[in-house]
Amino acid sequence: MDYSSDKGWHDARIIPYQQITIEPSAMIFHYGQTVFEGLKAYYSAEGKVLLFRPERNMQRLNQSNDRLCIPKIDEELALQALKELINIDRDWIPKAEGTSLYIRPFIISTEPALGVHPAHQYKFMIILSPVGSYYEEGIHPVKIAVESKYVRAVAGGTGQAKTAGNYASSLKAQEVAEENGYSQVLWLDGVEKKYVEEVGSMNIFFKINGEVVTPKLNGSILPGITRDSIIHLLKHWNVPVVEKRISIDEVYQAYKDGVLEEVFGTGTAAVISPVGELYWNNEKVIVNGGQTGELSMKLYNTLTDIQLGKEPDPFGWVVEVEQK
Ligand code: PMP
Repeated sequence: MDYSSDKGWHDARIIPYQQITIEPSAMIFHYGQTVFEGLKAYYSAEGKVLLFRPERNMQRLNQSNDRLCIPKIDEELALQALKELINIDRDWIPKAEGTSLYIRPFIISTEPALGVHPAHQYKFMIILSPVGSYYEEGIHPVKIAVESKYVRAVAGGTGQAKTAGNYASSLKAQEVAEENGYSQVLWLDGVEKKYVEEVGSMNIFFKINGEVVTPKLNGSILPGITRDSIIHLLKHWNVPVVEKRISIDEVYQAYKDGVLEEVFGTGTAAVISPVGELYWNNEKVIVNGGQTGELSMKLYNTLTDIQLGKEPDPFGWVVEVEQK
């Protein structure tokens, strides 16, 4: 679908995956005015094709649009288009457990112009790709390095939008962490480098002395859909959960006091990713003996079972893609 100032969003169409023509002076190449989303379609235990809270992805796309000065899309129309795209050939959705069809809606500014201003032309595209299971060898804890040098996002910046620049600014830290044997970095706030924000492509939770804590959304953290779902589930189970500002020193102190019980990341790809080690201040903070915690496992099993239609869906999160 294309956008121009005179016509608005127009010319929605489904075409085979192919190369597209964009001018070298298109603003996307120079000023990064772009937003994207990521979600999955998968087969349920009963052979239905399901999506998980897809309306949330469309809402978040529009929130990102707002921050990046990109014209809003019609959320319902986008969701409808996405379903039609999936229905063109359901054979592209892999059937093995944990596998899915990854869906990537995104918008780029295509106006050929060299001055810095919100573009007058855009393209909204949705591409699909089958993906394998995140946990081919079963759920296992990851090692994460707390980032003390680089910053991903600052208050008032674009941290809460799903936009390319946030990921570009993350690459260097990610590269260094990987060289040191860590799979992702845990970002701290961009001002004091003290308060915990999120992991590369996940939100983060700490279970401290029986209470689950996750950083409060502050404008520089992506409002994860899995994060929101986990908070709902914990409340539903009457497990104490709070969204608040939490410093890395508090996390470290909890570890020293022996009450840092579990740490886990949440995101569409992994659903729940237990953290077995946090590297901070030249020290390896080993969480739960480096093993997957009981709550992390229960959350993973429950959420994936709800997503797969194996467990009741008390919150109405799962959306079926009906066959035409
Ligand atoms: N933070 C960042 C920076 C991400 O890229 C993602 C993945 N979309 C998340 C958090 C988790 O968000 P969600 O649960 O919506 O996938």
